[in-house]
Amino acid sequence: MNTDESNTEELYRKYVLANYAQAPLTINKGVGVTVWDDTGREYLDFTSGIAVTTLGHCHPRWLQKITDQAAELAHCSNLFRNPNQGLLAEKLVQRAGPGKAFFCNSGAEANETLIKLARLHGREQSGTEGQQYKILAAKNAFHGRTMGSLAATPQEKFRGGFRPMLDGFAFGEINNIQSFTDLVDKHTSAILIEPIQGESGILSCSKDFLHELRELCDERGLLLLLDEVQCGIGRTGSFFAFEHAGIHPDAIAMAKGLGGGFPIGAVWIAEPRAHLFTPGSHGSTFGGSPMACAAALAVLEVLEQEDLLHRVAEQSKPWLAALRELAVKFTGHIKEVRGRGYLVALAFHDNPTPIIVELRNEGLLTVGAGDQTVRLLPPLTATSEELQRSVDIFEKVLDAAVS
Ligand code: PLP
Repeated sequence: MNTDESNTEELYRKYVLANYAQAPLTINKGVGVTVWDDTGREYLDFTSGIAVTTLGHCHPRWLQKITDQAAELAHCSNLFRNPNQGLLAEKLVQRAGPGKAFFCNSGAEANETLIKLARLHGREQSGTEGQQYKILAAKNAFHGRTMGSLAATPQEKFRGGFRPMLDGFAFGEINNIQSFTDLVDKHTSAILIEPIQGESGILSCSKDFLHELRELCDERGLLLLLDEVQCGIGRTGSFFAFEHAGIHPDAIAMAKGLGGGFPIGAVWIAEPRAHLFTPGSHGSTFGGSPMACAAALAVLEVLEQEDLLHRVAEQSKPWLAALRELAVKFTGHIKEVRGRGYLVALAFHDNPTPIIVELRNEGLLTVGAGDQTVRLLPPLTATSEELQRSVDIFEKVLDAAVS
């Protein structure tokens, strides 16, 4: 364990690009829901590496699968087949429905694939390239930092300095179907949406709105593309967040929690559209590597073996109720509690950064979101006791804040 904090800090200061606003904390080790800093101090990790460590840190099955795979074959490119990629694609198709999978390395790349899918669909529909290419996305959306996914992310704090944006995006408001209907024209090919907006502070699309989007897409020949990068892979208590609405998307972007800490992105495309990508039309050197797929297979296996979807759905109910009680007790600070399963945010009346710092000082790691929210994203393996500990720490910090 590196105990030389000043050295880490110095190395960062000298050599690491200063593009992150980081907390002054060096994490060295993690087991389950617990992480340790370089002084040996323990924290309850309710960030999960921003919704990534689905099984907590160093889950034994995940560790075994990736170390076994590393000893066999880490990488072979997509010049050749590897058995894990087919197995993982099959599992995703079982979850999403008849279709096919493509593998990449991150959420932004998965969304780039959706954007390219929309273009291919537009070409097929209109018979020409460059006629039907526009994508409708949502205000407050976050789809990533690459130039395509950024063009679908209409927020100044992410776009500033990087203009001109890729052409062909327009933005409606979630839960306001008219705002999307008004934007559709003959150039539109798809709608791209997060069923629950994560980075903006856990803002959910209603069931009705998701149905209305599906209807609009069907009426106008558009693809319905869902970004489940943050809200998918069991985080809400169902494998995909859109499932509770009972709709059928045309394609889904996944990443974050899929690899449980090993980088992997994936796109599922419904059968009728899967032919749009042809050999040579898209690719990724690392996408779907034996290692990345082994990690994701371990995540999906443990989700089933430990009945995690059911556990998240059940255990989150009393946790959310306890957090809502806190919101009542500290009504001067907390505006509301939002979210589902283990994808939760507390919206504050004021900037909650001091609260996030105090929570950390008390041993609870959380993530800010939007302007005034604190996100709680425990691993899906978190127990009721660990959830309750987060409530106790919150209460202690808020008690101190009001006194
Ligand atoms: N889409 C959503 C909904 C996200 O929350 C994120 C990241 O926070 C991304 C896409 C981008 O993912 P990545 O950082 O893996 O590129």
